[in-house]
Amino acid sequence: MGLYSNHMSGDSLKTFYLETFGCQMNVHDSEKVIGTLVHEGYRQVQTVEQADLILYNTCSIRDKAEQKVFHRLADFKKLQAQGKKFGVLGCVAQQEGEKIFERAPHVSLVCGSASYRNLPQMLAQLDAVDIRDSHPANTARAGAPSTGKARGSGLGTRDSQLVRITGLDDRETDECFETEFTARTNPHRGYITIIEGCDKFCAYCVVPFTRGKERSRTSDSVLAEARQMADLGYTEIQLLGQNVNSYKDPAGKRSFAELLAAVGEVPGIRRVRFTTSHPRDFGRDIVEAIDAVPALCDHVHLPVQSGSDRVLDAMQRLYTRDQYLERIAWMKSAKREISITTDVIVGFPGETEEEFAQTLSLLDEVGYDGVFTFKYSPRPNTPALSLDDAIPDQEKARRLEALMTAQKNIQTSRYKKYIGGTLEAMVEGKNESRGQWIGRTSQNKTLNFTVPQGSLLGIGSYVPVRVIGSFPNSLLGELVV
Ligand code: SAM
Ligand code: SF4
Repeated sequence: MGLYSNHMSGDSLKTFYLETFGCQMNVHDSEKVIGTLVHEGYRQVQTVEQADLILYNTCSIRDKAEQKVFHRLADFKKLQAQGKKFGVLGCVAQQEGEKIFERAPHVSLVCGSASYRNLPQMLAQLDAVDIRDSHPANTARAGAPSTGKARGSGLGTRDSQLVRITGLDDRETDECFETEFTARTNPHRGYITIIEGCDKFCAYCVVPFTRGKERSRTSDSVLAEARQMADLGYTEIQLLGQNVNSYKDPAGKRSFAELLAAVGEVPGIRRVRFTTSHPRDFGRDIVEAIDAVPALCDHVHLPVQSGSDRVLDAMQRLYTRDQYLERIAWMKSAKREISITTDVIVGFPGETEEEFAQTLSLLDEVGYDGVFTFKYSPRPNTPALSLDDAIPDQEKARRLEALMTAQKNIQTSRYKKYIGGTLEAMVEGKNESRGQWIGRTSQNKTLNFTVPQGSLLGIGSYVPVRVIGSFPNSLLGELVV
């Protein structure tokens, strides 16, 4: 990953280290946070030891992800003595809030994603205090604006000298985190967030509590960013949202499908992806847009979570198996073959063996090209916490294994079909030890391929590749010359 700094002399800048956990939304949030920090006069560094400010952009979708950040904070606690400051951003920050200061007193900043707009003010407050300075004026100097509060911790005399800056009060905002300073890490393909938050409140999920209410950017602003990226040489854009297809243009100009088509028509853009789609808001117009605009990739990620109507109802997904399959049928009748991937949760409270078997049969019926599988993890605040009949972890693990084995068999036969055909691959890199180039197809499949000796390919270029072999998760090919 590239490291970012602005044009000022590197040594005179304050430095920061940022580690990101979790989903693509978090990865892209981090790109915007990095851009903001650099604009505020910071320089990104590669190690915690080199940094003045250490930030973790966190994920709390499952318990395991949440625990990671506390381990990191414990590992580096001793560095506070050198005056280093620590901040927790993202979903764990929003979920745990000020409790983080109790669990990890060396943390000075706790900020949820809905408050990132206020980061410049929070950074200025943080900057104004010296962690090693034991003078109580530390907290007073930081000020207390309405967002990005700084205050004494109330944890006793010694702790009252600690710095506590929070950005936790913006979950009801209508505003998105829009910035012109996004520090994208890949020069060829980049993300654009079009919708933030979530209003769906599935019974198992923390996202509505951590990312706040659903809010969309205007389609004009999204298109302006897409054009700007095309001008900078980007050829692939991925539109992001927890439910990207629940998008509602605040200016009322374009539906999601119309925005998708418009991004696909931006000159210079060759591939447009979008993730994640919610089945409830998945309209036929999305498939029609894919049919009409060649730049829209022939891949849709449509999380199903379960193949059982009873479990779907208990999960509060608000669609049935048949309604989900109707959407699959729309995709299967498209002009191009659309590759379909999904998310599945096993071991939701009360899931019977028979209900799990219905999920397995759904995998067969749809024929997915990829499935992200999760063991149900009880999350704070969620309605599913109060459900009885927890499935023992060992049983969840067994179901996960069974599901992954079934899906591997499905993928093995699905990927075989491509042998003998030619696909366009975007060149992503080279695996020197194998002597293979790494490519990605429009359907989002990894296509590793060989080239005639002496040929050099540009990263980010598009090349035709003949498929000569297949594995459950990738294809093998050779460059068509
Ligand atoms: N908005 C998307 C949707 O509704 O399909 C999903 C976004 S969520 C960040 C990504 C995936 O995490 C979900 O599709 C679900 O499979 C999984 N997930 C969410 N909460 C979970 C939990 N408590 N336990 C296990 N997996 C969970
Ligand atoms: Fe979570 Fe459901 Fe919202 Fe997806 S739609 S982010 S699973 S609450």
